[in-house]
Amino acid sequence: MEFDHILIRYGELALKGRNQNKFLNKLQHNIQQQLKSFSGVKVKRIQGRMFILLNGQDPEPIMNKCQQIFGIHSLSLALKVTNDVEEIKKAALYALLQATHVHTFKVVTKRAHKGFPVGSLEMNQIIGGYLLENSEGITVDVHRPDLEVRVEIRTDATYITSATIPGAGGLPVGTSGKTLLLLSGGIDSPVAGYLTMKRGVELEAIHFHSPPFTSDRAKQKVLDLAEKLTQYGHKIKVHIVPFTKLQQQIFAETKDGYGMTIMRRMMFRISEAVCKQEGILSIATGESLGQVASQTMDSMNTINEVTNYPILRPLVAMDKQEIIKIARKIDTYDISIRPYEDCCTIFVPKAPKTKPKRDKSAYYEAKYNYDALLEETIAGIETITITGQKRQEDQFKDLF
Ligand code: ATP
Ligand code: MG
Repeated sequence: MEFDHILIRYGELALKGRNQNKFLNKLQHNIQQQLKSFSGVKVKRIQGRMFILLNGQDPEPIMNKCQQIFGIHSLSLALKVTNDVEEIKKAALYALLQATHVHTFKVVTKRAHKGFPVGSLEMNQIIGGYLLENSEGITVDVHRPDLEVRVEIRTDATYITSATIPGAGGLPVGTSGKTLLLLSGGIDSPVAGYLTMKRGVELEAIHFHSPPFTSDRAKQKVLDLAEKLTQYGHKIKVHIVPFTKLQQQIFAETKDGYGMTIMRRMMFRISEAVCKQEGILSIATGESLGQVASQTMDSMNTINEVTNYPILRPLVAMDKQEIIKIARKIDTYDISIRPYEDCCTIFVPKAPKTKPKRDKSAYYEAKYNYDALLEETIAGIETITITGQKRQEDQFKDLF
């Protein structure tokens, strides 16, 4: 006997009313995509429940992968048996003995198939008694058991599940549209991307690159970060913007510590143009209020003047330590701390303005024809599509 299914629970999706089907189709599709390297594994929906059919595959790496898929609230290994009391008893015992650190249990029977001859309370007693007889050092606790052995009797079959493991939560990626993530090589923006994806948003990324002041390794770092993020969703298009000329012009024409402010206004203008081109309706950043000069309330107000696209700032209320904790969890931290230079750090004025004004920014911008420079910069954008798959092929190539 062995576990042959994984039961997927999707909590929040149940609230989506008539859209539920769309959400479930997306979730099913995303799970199927993420598990496609496990041959024979299938995702099925059976009477309002979602199951993964293991078809003989080792459940552990599949459970691990599932814990990264947004929209899954919790999961449990499951056994499918015929609607026969003796079969159900044996499967329940297997589920109990497979679980670790269990001193107390409780059986919870749900009889969805009303034609089944034994009532659910009676089933709890029959199975509970059988488990007690056939195990050692384990007792029943109906209030706070270490393990609930769940028995779900349906018309087609009975499913027995044991321990419930938490999933990533959130909504299936692709059910909340797409955003353009400003992805630097820092710690914050990949975390912002991850949290945006958690709410069902698909990503494209934009990175401002200033060769020769920033190197190819700095660009590679950003591509590696994007690749990490593909683990939580789909392929990610990364738009690399050649920013050097515009940046030099900005810093030549700007005084009073306004360079940073104007550079960021240009970033938003370029980002909005890319959004329009790609049919994207919002922009996301890794800004956190008060963290640095460009992230004060005055700065946000002045920088935000140039676009009326919604700016998603999922880190706005987080402390650096909280952000680092997530960066470690999603495995982007070690890439982010590689010591390559960023375009902002190179051009940053010695004393950036912490309270920049909108009219003064416009005054400095009027000193040159930035429209033409923007157009030229946008025309030079290089777009690279990162798929998790490609990376695997590359690793394979390295072996020879
Ligand atoms: P991060 O750790 O994400 O780099 P930060 O704390 O260094 O953030 P800033 O440098 O002020 O803060 O950048 C704020 C946000 O602006 C970043 O989170 C990112 O979304 C965006 N950003 C900064 N530099 C770039 C860049 N070179 N390319 C794309 N986006 C950028
Ligand atoms: Mg940065």
